[in-house]
Amino acid sequence: MIYLDNNATTPVDPAVSEKMCQFLKENFGNPSSLYPLGKQVNKFLTEARESVSKALGAERSEIFFTGSGTESDNFAIRGILDAHPGQNEFITSSIEHPAILYTAAYLEKRGIKVTYVPVDEYGTIDLDFLKQAITPKTALISIMLANNEIGTIQPIKKIAKIAKERNIPVHTDAVQALGKMDLDVNDLGVDLLSLSAHKIYGPKGIGALYIRKGTQIVPFIHGGHQESEMRAGTENTAGIVGFGEAVRLLREKGNKEKKRIEKLAEELKKGVEERVDKIRFNGHPKTRLKGTLNFSFYGLEAEAILLALATKEIYVSTGSACSEGEEESSPVLKAIGLEPDVARSSIRMSLGRFNTEEDIQTVLKELPEIINNLREISEEEE
Ligand code: PLP
Repeated sequence: MIYLDNNATTPVDPAVSEKMCQFLKENFGNPSSLYPLGKQVNKFLTEARESVSKALGAERSEIFFTGSGTESDNFAIRGILDAHPGQNEFITSSIEHPAILYTAAYLEKRGIKVTYVPVDEYGTIDLDFLKQAITPKTALISIMLANNEIGTIQPIKKIAKIAKERNIPVHTDAVQALGKMDLDVNDLGVDLLSLSAHKIYGPKGIGALYIRKGTQIVPFIHGGHQESEMRAGTENTAGIVGFGEAVRLLREKGNKEKKRIEKLAEELKKGVEERVDKIRFNGHPKTRLKGTLNFSFYGLEAEAILLALATKEIYVSTGSACSEGEEESSPVLKAIGLEPDVARSSIRMSLGRFNTEEDIQTVLKELPEIINNLREISEEEE
């Protein structure tokens, strides 16, 4: 099997599953219990929180574990807007993940004014538009750090600077960015940042939200004292332990792994461009997650390509996993100006830790053949 859908989810690293299994076998205590059984589990949570905070240059007390990246996004946006009842305006971009876009739509129904900052042909947001959109009623700006479909990286530092001058908190969805680029909340200047473990070889169903100390935000789930009373509910202890370990592994592997993946991706990109005609590369040529490749294959339906590749056990995607299967073409590709039929011909290949040189060679052999065959079939049908 050749798995090229690492932006949808990643295989759990064996070191992570081992740590989680060991933990589950030996620890069942409730981390809130005051006796040793609970305290022991609490120690594991502290260790994981430390691991995640280190990866962001944050403090341990600024990390709140959640149930997913989606929950972190919801928590950030709703938590900030609810904490600022006098300010009913929210600014985001047109290429956010559904976790942000659908939260924004929900807020619009409740009377919040949402402004969607447009992007250029490479998926970079229009900073002048953003500046113009800010009013004294703006409660929050949320712009993703790196896009899940085309990999474009946004100028978050500049956005945070603009926002800071006007005293507006900034949230960034860094779910795709973690592990693929350096992250430091102080360098970026953001106040809130979302993460998810399953994109970094950790388990599913566990995320985190960084909240800068002093940020005015209301709790997301009410109940017990967990997560400093911001997100109540007995913790997903094994998930948190796995998340902590996955982040530790990222730090251990450092830039070497990133460079290896980027080199493979570059080879794949070049190879596709050399071997297949009538294609279009989507995403920023430079400021992009280099392991994310998005191509349009003119005249074809992405789903046909995806299914043909799947018969060869090569797994790619037609865009965001969350919108896969929907009739409509990707809002991200629409936002960068692609015609619906071109958008519908687009395939995302996202590389990760377990991809090899052999994988790339196999894809470069199979993909051009598949595209040629599909094009021949569609010409015959015309
Ligand atoms: N934000 C981005 C940019 C994503 O790519 C994803 C997952 O695809 C999410 C948020 C949602 O994360 P989760 O799957 O943990 O809910």
